[in-house]
Amino acid sequence: MKKYNFSAGPAILPYEVLQKASEAVLNFNGSGLSLIEISHRSKEFVAVIEEARTLALELLGLKNQGYQALFMQGDASMEFLRVPYNLLKINGKASYLDTGTWASGAIKQAKIFGNTEIIASSKDENYSYIPKNYSVSADSDYFHCTSNNTVYGTQMHEFPKLNVPLVCDMSSDIFSRVLDFSKFDLIYAGAQKNAGTSGVSLIVVKENILGKTGRAIPSILDYKEHILRESMYNTPAVFAVYTSLLTLKWIKEKGGITVLEKQNNAKAELLYNEIDNNPLFVGKAKKEDRSKMNVTFALKDKSLTERFDNLWQNAGISGLNGHRTVGDYRASIYNAMSLEGVQVLVDVMREFTRTV
Ligand code: PMP
Repeated sequence: MKKYNFSAGPAILPYEVLQKASEAVLNFNGSGLSLIEISHRSKEFVAVIEEARTLALELLGLKNQGYQALFMQGDASMEFLRVPYNLLKINGKASYLDTGTWASGAIKQAKIFGNTEIIASSKDENYSYIPKNYSVSADSDYFHCTSNNTVYGTQMHEFPKLNVPLVCDMSSDIFSRVLDFSKFDLIYAGAQKNAGTSGVSLIVVKENILGKTGRAIPSILDYKEHILRESMYNTPAVFAVYTSLLTLKWIKEKGGITVLEKQNNAKAELLYNEIDNNPLFVGKAKKEDRSKMNVTFALKDKSLTERFDNLWQNAGISGLNGHRTVGDYRASIYNAMSLEGVQVLVDVMREFTRTV
């Protein structure tokens, strides 16, 4: 039986994507060769990465607007480093919003390169909210934020209007909701949540923000070099890129981000309603900043943990445990999770309350 997978990442993928990806491993497009044994320079694979790059821009509404999409190894953690390398000027300054584990990880890397100011942080309340009313200095080289905090279950619902480049780690909510993506100058996301499997990150960058730091950048870390080489500077993670292409095609076939956003809203509403109305549970994030991708909640009475865990595990649910650093529960309800899947979890919570 296929389980209901609520893992945070690597995470649930549409069944059609898994099916097509596995077929391609055995026989890619009827070629008699596996996708993972053909040259990345073959016309078959070049077509894959080109289509994936174009489709990523199309889905975000950024085609022909000065942006480039890249698929690169290193996942999101590599972008923590590549972003300051490419954008933080020698003797310049970067501004960061500290909203949790991954935002702090990005800050740590930027500090290696230069003056990095944390303009606001929600650490004081265990990252349960998104700071508001902060201002970003006009002399910053860029402002970095994390749109969705995978560990703590908070999500930015507003983005500041700025005169400096806006950089965003969208690893855990890219392609899940409609935003004016043209407000962003650089978006990056580890693919393993809404954009495929682990092994690549998607980077969408406005070309005119690059090449201004005054520092020499090693080629493998240089966005300009990767743009010049059409995202093929070195051997790409071919299977991961192909899985991303299949996932992006699935998003398009579903009707694009607009349609997915409606489904994501319905799923989040269903689950948060249960958390708020069920006397045994409590939500962990401040209501106004709740994430529609990672729903964090806790049992009010921790002595019931084992009984609840047995119930959801026996119902075919997987991956509901909170991040190892914070515990409790986290239901990751990415694009590929159906409303029916969320209903199974809600039914388990109700059943638990009835029988406890
Ligand atoms: N940013 C966010 C928002 C994440 O959720 C994660 C991982 N879950 C990362 C960055 C780090 O990603 P990776 O493991 O792909 O480097």
